[in-house]
Amino acid sequence: MTTTPHPLVAEAHRLADGLLAPSAQRVDQDVVPASHLAAVRRSGLLGVSAPVESGGAGAPDAVAREVAEILAGACLSTWFVQTQHHTPVRLLGRAAPGLPARERLLRPLAGGELLAGIAYAHVRSHPRVPVRATAERGGVRFDGTVPWYTGWGLNDLMLLAGVTGADEVVFAFADAREQPGLRPSPPMRLAALTAARTVSLALDGLWVPEESVVLRTPREEFARVDVPRSTNTSPAVFGVAYAALDLLASAPDERGAADSLRARVDEVRERAYALADHPVPHEHVAERLALRTRAYDLLRSATTAAVVAGGGRATSLDHPAQRLAREAMFLLIQGQTTPVREAHLEALAAG
Ligand SMILES: Cc1cc2nc3c(=O)[nH]c(=O)nc-3n(C[C@H](O)[C@H](O)[C@H](O)COP(=O)(O)OP(=O)(O)OC[C@H]3O[C@@H](n4cnc5c(N)ncnc54)[C@H](O)[C@@H]3O)c2cc1C
Repeated sequence: MTTTPHPLVAEAHRLADGLLAPSAQRVDQDVVPASHLAAVRRSGLLGVSAPVESGGAGAPDAVAREVAEILAGACLSTWFVQTQHHTPVRLLGRAAPGLPARERLLRPLAGGELLAGIAYAHVRSHPRVPVRATAERGGVRFDGTVPWYTGWGLNDLMLLAGVTGADEVVFAFADAREQPGLRPSPPMRLAALTAARTVSLALDGLWVPEESVVLRTPREEFARVDVPRSTNTSPAVFGVAYAALDLLASAPDERGAADSLRARVDEVRERAYALADHPVPHEHVAERLALRTRAYDLLRSATTAAVVAGGGRATSLDHPAQRLAREAMFLLIQGQTTPVREAHLEALAAG
């Protein structure tokens, strides 16, 4: 029996095959073009997980994951810029109706008129407080350093988090542009994903009004939800693994190797997604971590196989195999939290 794919999955394939994959080599060596993001904005994909009543598609997580795999496999830099957007959309979607930030921003974010980035991974570095939030003049001021902010100059808004003196995390929206109290570094030059324009941000009294605040939550409560969620495997890991296997299989002699690796990736993917859909995020943590680590092993095998099959030419900057291998390296640390880091290092040490 065949089932018709969700319209947004079909749209993701159209975008991937028609635009993202053909220019991925060029984008990797340059910057994600505004025209790529304009196409993503028009596609409806930015509202995949947004509520229908706010102009989104309200699609199940399985659809959002499949879309992410397709985009990541086509052009990881473009995927990475747009993936930031889904966190603010989900946060606003869960916020109480009537909250000023929700009323003002959810619809334009779901429809793609606005594109958002995030600046909150630093909250995980407790007990260090890289960004302090303080109540001031009927709003919040932010001071400190955001170590990583992706999409600078490409997106419109940022969801920024800081920790208060009472150990509460404050999430608020700010315009993603240089302004009093906010100074970006030059875009970082990285071994992978330089094209996604990642900067660090120096905050020195950046002030946002109360209407821009989305959530205040005790830091421990934030960690209780955030840490188990981080133990799931990112769909991008499977997207890049499949892209490497497609490349491998394009050499007729290597189809057998590609098929055997693909069967192992399929199996881990199925189990990882079943756990991602499990209703209690803090259950089965050890199994989630083991699957995330296993997925990394297979990602490394798939991208390594593509390099090996490509021979010397695979090291040319024009060759997709080296790009996929560098992208795989980046995915090893994307969204890394303490338990993820420890489980991965333990597995590597055990061989
Ligand atoms: C290119 C790039 C772009 C990024 N863009 C964004 C972005 O737009 N927005 C955003 O919010 N984040 C972004 N990040 C951050 C990313 O999601 C991860 O949080 C980050 O890569 C984790 O590494 P780190 O260097 O920040 O922290 P690390 O210092 O490597 O720490 C990672 C985790 O391990 C813990 N840890 C560190 N050392 C130890 C130790 N010795 N023992 C136990 N635990 C330890 C830390 O507390 C933390 O939870 C980006 C990262 C990169 C590389």
